[in-house]
Amino acid sequence: MDMSNEVSMGNEAAFSRACASLVGGVNSPVRSFTSVGGSPFFIREGHGSYVVDIEGRRYLDYVQSYGAIIHGHGDDGVLAAVMDAARKGTTFGAPTLGEVELAERIKAKVPGIDLVRLTSSGTEATMTALRLARGVTGRSKIIKFEGCYHGHSDALLASSGSGVASLGLPASVGVTPAAVLDTIVAPYNELPKIGEDVAAVIVEPVAANMGLVPASAGFLQELRRLATEAGALLIFDEVITGFRIAEGGASTLFGVTPDLWCFGKVIGGGLPVGAVAGPEEIMAYLAPTGPVYQAGTLSGNPLATAAGSAALRQLNSASYRMLAGRAEQLAFGLTKVIEEADLAVQIQRVESLLGIFFADEPVTNYREAVSSVERGIYAHFFHAMLKRGIAMAPGPYEVLFPGLAHTVDDVDKTIDIASAAAVEARDLWAKSR
Ligand SMILES: *Cc1c(COP(=O)(O)O)cnc(C)c1O
Repeated sequence: MDMSNEVSMGNEAAFSRACASLVGGVNSPVRSFTSVGGSPFFIREGHGSYVVDIEGRRYLDYVQSYGAIIHGHGDDGVLAAVMDAARKGTTFGAPTLGEVELAERIKAKVPGIDLVRLTSSGTEATMTALRLARGVTGRSKIIKFEGCYHGHSDALLASSGSGVASLGLPASVGVTPAAVLDTIVAPYNELPKIGEDVAAVIVEPVAANMGLVPASAGFLQELRRLATEAGALLIFDEVITGFRIAEGGASTLFGVTPDLWCFGKVIGGGLPVGAVAGPEEIMAYLAPTGPVYQAGTLSGNPLATAAGSAALRQLNSASYRMLAGRAEQLAFGLTKVIEEADLAVQIQRVESLLGIFFADEPVTNYREAVSSVERGIYAHFFHAMLKRGIAMAPGPYEVLFPGLAHTVDDVDKTIDIASAAAVEARDLWAKSR
């Protein structure tokens, strides 16, 4: 077998080769094309807002590593920081000033944070936040919202049964009923009853894993009030929203201060990082100062913290005005051209995050998101866009991540292409029914 990557290989051949060694050809199921049909393209390189596949085809990329990238691919500042760090050693298992700097940068941007614990993924951050909340409160139950994604730890892979707020059911084979026994699942944008046995309520302050579903007016404020009343902690999972929708993330944008924050994606500048953060009286419960155990061989890794600090260093209020401006232009244009193609569409947007629902009415929770997705239009639109050079996520529950590398021209081009793609998607969809 020729294992070199030098020989020219097309996407189809690469996918067959991948499937022989990687489960389903991918290392994270969202990358597979299972929900849109077809097989994925393999990326050779990315520059700014573009990626290039191994066949040399260029795509304007709205995936941006699912939001891990905010400055565009191969950002000079991030690259220089990573190269410089790599030359000095990749990991030590001993403290470095790089991890202190990243924690300081997070603290400086988000009022309410005294202490930070760095992890290597968002999943570890939310897992740790739950353990910490349980350790601090001495309570067991967790409330999560249907359609919010908090990584792939067992307790958070819970889906709801019927009824308003219900005991969690395993959302994956391999998750035991016992693992989700303490997880209560409630509909997004509805205030749950928070019992005396609830350690924490965890929420995406802008839901960005069921398409883009904004928190409705007062939802986060009321959650804050109810959690405090019940003696439960409020955890904001800002793995997507953190440092993306505002300089201080969702807590500063909405003026609601949680007890714990979870971060990931942007804070790693494209390398693996997550973080749990909060006030000292809660964070100090973590080992080594407190009794709640948590650890990681690569936590606070020098390359990852260098990339993360470089990414955060380059973000200021002007960045967010620019991001929101691009996203607004994109949302406005997409709505116009998709409606002109006679498709009902809701482009839902919060600052620079946006999602596409083919639906007649705004989508406010997971059930409504599912019923929009079940119309089956997204896959057609996705492929019509992709073949014209616009890469969105290969799944209808993901959002678009216009970043700082996306230019006005990029967005204009996207809208032009969407105009033709929407017509094609509508025709194909009509034929398929
Ligand atoms: C991506 C994501 C996670 C999980 O982060 P990983 O780094 O993929 O483990 C958790 N919460 C939210 C809101 C996310 O979008």
